[in-house]
Amino acid sequence: MTDCIFCKIISGEIPADKLFENDYVIAINDINPKAKVHALVIPKVHIDSLNELEDEKLMSEILKATKEVAKIKGVKSYRLHVNVGKEEGQIVFHLHFHVLSNTIK
Ligand code: 5GP
Ligand code: ZN
Repeated sequence: MTDCIFCKIISGEIPADKLFENDYVIAINDINPKAKVHALVIPKVHIDSLNELEDEKLMSEILKATKEVAKIKGVKSYRLHVNVGKEEGQIVFHLHFHVLSNTIK
């Protein structure tokens, strides 16, 4: 998607504070953190929202990556947040999981 900000981050066109990357996902620090730890786990393929996610392998890779991000950030206690649809706060229509924690040392 040419006009998708997360696709541009994935392609390297727009810089981001990258935490983790593998064949399936990247994880970056959120540009406007709403907690001490606020990272985003983003699949490398463009999927508009969780409603369009059908690939079970990718589902498991996203969840594994959220745990990896928590480990990288040094938090054992955290929450995952996904906005689905603009009425519930989704702004970027490229699927992403928020990893949030305030229990960092
Ligand atoms: P949503 O409301 O769609 O679930 O969340 C979108 C998130 O993406 C927001 O927390 C926002 O701060 C973050 N975001 C938007 N643009 C950028 C960007 O260019 N870089 C980074 N790192 N985060 C972004
Ligand atoms: Zn995209």
